[in-house]
Amino acid sequence: MSPKIAIVGAGPAGLALASILCRNGITPTVFESDASPTARPQGGSLDLHPATGQAALAACGLTPQFEKYARYDGQDFILSDKKGNRLFEIKDQETGRPEIDREQLRRILLDSIPEGVIRWGQHLVSATQDTLQFKEGHSESGFDLIVGADGAWSKIRPLCCYVNPFYSGITGVEMTLRETSTKHPELSKTVGNGSFFAFASEDGRVLQFQRNDNDTIKCYAFMRKPDNWAKNSGIDWQDPQSIRASLKSDYADWTPELSRVIEEFDGTAAVRPLYTLPPILRWPSQKKVTIIGDAAHLMTPFAGEGVNIALADAMNLAKEIIAHPDDIAGAIHEAEVKMWDGAKDAAALAWENTLLRYEPGGLEKTMERVTTMLKKLDEH
Ligand SMILES: Cc1cc2nc3c(=O)[nH]c(=O)nc-3n(C[C@H](O)[C@H](O)[C@H](O)COP(=O)(O)OP(=O)(O)OC[C@H]3O[C@@H](n4cnc5c(N)ncnc54)[C@H](O)[C@@H]3O)c2cc1C
Repeated sequence: MSPKIAIVGAGPAGLALASILCRNGITPTVFESDASPTARPQGGSLDLHPATGQAALAACGLTPQFEKYARYDGQDFILSDKKGNRLFEIKDQETGRPEIDREQLRRILLDSIPEGVIRWGQHLVSATQDTLQFKEGHSESGFDLIVGADGAWSKIRPLCCYVNPFYSGITGVEMTLRETSTKHPELSKTVGNGSFFAFASEDGRVLQFQRNDNDTIKCYAFMRKPDNWAKNSGIDWQDPQSIRASLKSDYADWTPELSRVIEEFDGTAAVRPLYTLPPILRWPSQKKVTIIGDAAHLMTPFAGEGVNIALADAMNLAKEIIAHPDDIAGAIHEAEVKMWDGAKDAAALAWENTLLRYEPGGLEKTMERVTTMLKKLDEH
């Protein structure tokens, strides 16, 4: 008989797990707090790597759908200083890491899952090894396996370990520019088809531009800021003028070629304080409960690996469940060992980059790192 499985969270990890299980005759139930697939904007674009993100989509049977949306020219990359001096450029080079918008990734995963599997508007407030308790008042129990794919602030994590995320020292402000070719032609030309990262490491400031689909550009102003800066700074995050005034002061001595984004973005900004779990984390495996994705190894985005490892976790756990449906405890342990091993280098790199990009000499060291990474790719 198929095991009865609960997945908490319909992010990339939870959806990929549900998709692979359904494809292999095991129907889980996914509990998601969002009221619907379109309840909130999903954010920017993600590059998916061959052995992890892309392999997981292949296990979902979604390679053709991925290729429909994948932007291979999105791999272009420019690195500059705050004056706009370009120190490093990759153009028209295959790095094996095409970009896809989060909305599109979510859509293709959702379309691969039969109706009724996902229960929207179910916000988990607490859990035991047997029971899920929801904000809406009801509870669910009787599962052979509970998977926490509920991201940074997982309510399932405490069933595996008592470690909490800590603030990384960096906060990002996400800005969006639309219809860029007609409304923001200068910035559109500067950014090009892929990513444009500008560093003022000495000042703890970065502007990270990212081409998205639909003639859209996202820009993240990442800054070294104290914990709770978003709340304590006095910025009114509903007021574009208040946001612009604060960012203008933070980026006052940047070239207008780049800082013009502060004047030109559409006025709605998402503020993202970045949290992380320790780069190495493991726990004694449980018999009926596990966690995957950010719930298990939250890291800052500076290695570009979070979603890739999350998707790989889903693939590895699904494979173990499908191979050993009668030995869930064994499946959990095998998948966790793979997950811990797969996540530790990525998490260490993300943490190293979190320090390095915002300290003196960070720009030059980042250049060295990218050059080494490209050499390695060439060798393969
Ligand atoms: C600014 C930024 C940029 C990033 N850029 C990149 C990048 O370029 N490349 C990359 O690889 N990674 C990137 N990441 C990381 C990436 O977004 C995550 O690693 C990835 O989304 C993890 O997927 P997940 O499914 O584990 O968790 P999530 O995407 O967080 O999904 C968790 C899901 O669980 C739901 N949920 C949460 N709590 C509950 C609850 N109590 N009850 C029910 N449902 C719940 C949420 O609504 C959500 O749908 C970035 C992250 C940030 C913040």
